[in-house]
Amino acid sequence: MYSVLNRSCLSAVLRPTTSVRAASASQLLSVRRDQSSAPYLNIERHHDPDAPLSFSLTEDQREIKDLASKFTREEIIPVAAQYDKTGEYPWPIVKKAREVGLLNTGIQEKYGGPGLGLVEACIVAEQFGYGCTGIGTSMESNGLAQAPVILFGNEEQKKKYLGRLMHESDSQGRPLMSAYAVTEPGAGSDVAGIKMRAEKNSDGNYILNGSKMWITNGGVANWYFVLARTNPDPKAKASEAFSCFIVEADSPGVSVGRKELNMGQRASDTRGITFDNVIVPKENLLVKEGAGFKIAMTVFDKTRPPVAALAVGLGQRALDEATKYALERKTFGTQIFNHQAVQFMIADMIVGVETARLATLRAAWQMDCGQRNTYWASIAKCLAADVANKSATDAVQIFGGAGFNTEYPVEKLMRDAKILQIYEGTAQIQRLIIAREHYNMVKDTL
Ligand SMILES: Cc1cc2nc3c(=O)[nH]c(=O)nc-3n(C[C@H](O)[C@H](O)[C@H](O)COP(=O)(O)OP(=O)(O)OC[C@H]3O[C@@H](n4cnc5c(N)ncnc54)[C@H](O)[C@@H]3O)c2cc1C
Repeated sequence: MYSVLNRSCLSAVLRPTTSVRAASASQLLSVRRDQSSAPYLNIERHHDPDAPLSFSLTEDQREIKDLASKFTREEIIPVAAQYDKTGEYPWPIVKKAREVGLLNTGIQEKYGGPGLGLVEACIVAEQFGYGCTGIGTSMESNGLAQAPVILFGNEEQKKKYLGRLMHESDSQGRPLMSAYAVTEPGAGSDVAGIKMRAEKNSDGNYILNGSKMWITNGGVANWYFVLARTNPDPKAKASEAFSCFIVEADSPGVSVGRKELNMGQRASDTRGITFDNVIVPKENLLVKEGAGFKIAMTVFDKTRPPVAALAVGLGQRALDEATKYALERKTFGTQIFNHQAVQFMIADMIVGVETARLATLRAAWQMDCGQRNTYWASIAKCLAADVANKSATDAVQIFGGAGFNTEYPVEKLMRDAKILQIYEGTAQIQRLIIAREHYNMVKDTL
């Protein structure tokens, strides 16, 4: 039984957060954010940037954490290894998560969602990451596809496409899902290198042609967020050449490839998708023609912190498993925890996980305050993904031979961790962004 778990309770009890509630209701305004870089963007303020510094969760946030933790313990951990083995999509878990208000946490109440802030989304994602980042990615990718609609969609688009994800189910009673389709076979990090074309036809609608690759939820999504080139001139600026569309997955001309067999996160569904003369109604264009590149880039500020949170969860799991094993396993007459070399690996995990968690919450809090958080979003994603990988590798080391075996939990953590340094912007791309942001902050002061 999940006492506080139904969505209506969540909506009523959990929003707005206590810190904001302490402020006047008028402070809950939609704030315009960095007008020059994202002129169309309206984000809701969930936190007051002038509130005193506090490292404590509010009562509401603790309730959300307890709920997500209980859900992870009871619904995810017992079946994670099985989903990893079979590669089946975790439908029963996704379904239950929606029922209890832990899916689509960013969708506003107005459209039927819990309307939580990014801090709360990260609290939930960390718990999911603790249980299984493959299952967590299946659910968080929904948030990735929704983010451009939440941040940039017009009222009709939000009502139709966000509302549908909250209220509707397929013929088998499964929640409708969404997918973010930007990467192509020839372009991942270099987003401006994508080749998919969108041409306006005589009715003002668009015809999409091209292929997307590595799309999470590609085989289960009801609709896709798609980035395509609308200006054929190769010399056109990226900031003007691309447009974003919401595309119904059952549109004629859409074909979905086979599920990819990945190293880890095998419960998640990754596919290529081909678009062959797919007609997209003009109402499904986000903002305006040419605004696509900025939309796709801006969305990362909202979606990188939850990915970092998944990584923190995985790192914490590696730490817990390694600690438990180190206290059980004996060599040379003592528990291996008593060997200083093992303690040092555990200490490194603790340092990494604790600091990655702080960076993640910092990045999320900044967005919830209505501030530009690109710098912290990349720091969090970069650090947490590296920490997850090092912690999982060290956990395997602490387990010795058993760590290399599928009967023990840590080899899965090591396989699952790798993609955290690749998707949502690689480890190298995060470092480029951090250095660029740093340069922009200091260039006039040096
Ligand atoms: C399991 C999985 C799920 C995914 N889910 C999605 C999804 O839902 N939607 C979506 O759109 N995409 C998704 N992706 C795609 C993912 O975001 C890309 O794979 C990633 O951005 C890297 O792009 P790439 O694979 O083309 O690598 P490349 O861009 O070809 O990079 C190859 C290597 O070169 C490095 N590199 C590239 N450029 C630079 C540079 N300027 N400086 C330094 N190093 C550089 C990279 O860091 C990397 O190490 C997914 C991928 C996987 C594997």
